[in-house]
Amino acid sequence: MDKPIRSLHHVTATVSDAQEDLDFYTGLLGQRLVKKTVNFDNTGVYHFYYGDERGTPGTIMTTFPYGAWGVRQGRHGAGQITATSFSAPSGSLPFWRQRLTEMGVPFVDEASGYGEDVLRFTDPSGLVIRIVESRVDEREPWRGARVNSDSALRGIHGVTLTVRDPRQTLGFMTELMETAIVGEHEDGLRVAVNGDAPGRLVEIVRASEGTGAVNGLGTVHHVAFAVDDAEQQLEMRKELLRRGVNVTEVMDRQYFRSIYFREPGGVLFEVATIPPGFTADEAIGELGTSLKLPPWEEPHRASIEAALPAITVP
Ligand code: ZN
Repeated sequence: MDKPIRSLHHVTATVSDAQEDLDFYTGLLGQRLVKKTVNFDNTGVYHFYYGDERGTPGTIMTTFPYGAWGVRQGRHGAGQITATSFSAPSGSLPFWRQRLTEMGVPFVDEASGYGEDVLRFTDPSGLVIRIVESRVDEREPWRGARVNSDSALRGIHGVTLTVRDPRQTLGFMTELMETAIVGEHEDGLRVAVNGDAPGRLVEIVRASEGTGAVNGLGTVHHVAFAVDDAEQQLEMRKELLRRGVNVTEVMDRQYFRSIYFREPGGVLFEVATIPPGFTADEAIGELGTSLKLPPWEEPHRASIEAALPAITVP
């Protein structure tokens, strides 16, 4: 296979309250709500997709607000994506410090370990979010929530993967996904797929001693990587099976097709196709403005809508 993985595709998290989530990702971080749909496995729960204007792979954060369902708070730890980083232009951190302060979100300044300045804070559910200043991100930002283009987030910068044995994870990613090491320091390493630009980065850190991760509110469920088409995805699936990795059948997610498997450290990975994308059922100007359901749920629209909590998109 010739560099099958193009970039990250999306990061998916379990969060608590739907309205708080919308307010945070659109109102504070200035992301576009590119799709408002439901969890295809539980239509009583929304599925929000945030991203740039068209939801380009590598800019997408998706959430399932499960707070009203008795789901417990998760625990961060080994075998999990423990931080999601967004990419911000060089010189924009003063803007973000001020904005976080104004909105009452406590944050800390930290160094990325790879020569970048970083702000770290948590979203309303307890997810760890980082804003990483990058000089090399050429992506066109969505400018929502009165954030000007000098400061607007460019998309996902990368994810942090916490595992007990980074070597195993590294070996798996290198062989299967053709990742390359693009940075290293005493606590971890940074790998990239298909180049080293933001949107293609994964940081692998060794878990400290103690208990492993537990899924629940405030935790990332999985990270998805983008492939060009269904054919590449089948190739990847064949290769996973050949290696004895337990991989799902191909699933139709309406905006992409997906397979899921766990890397050796236990983190759930998805490989998702770039097509058809979020304009499959809405024009680009209309993205995220109405509740979209997959065709097989349309006959149940009235009861689905009645059961979902009322929300306002900021
Ligand atoms: Zn996914």
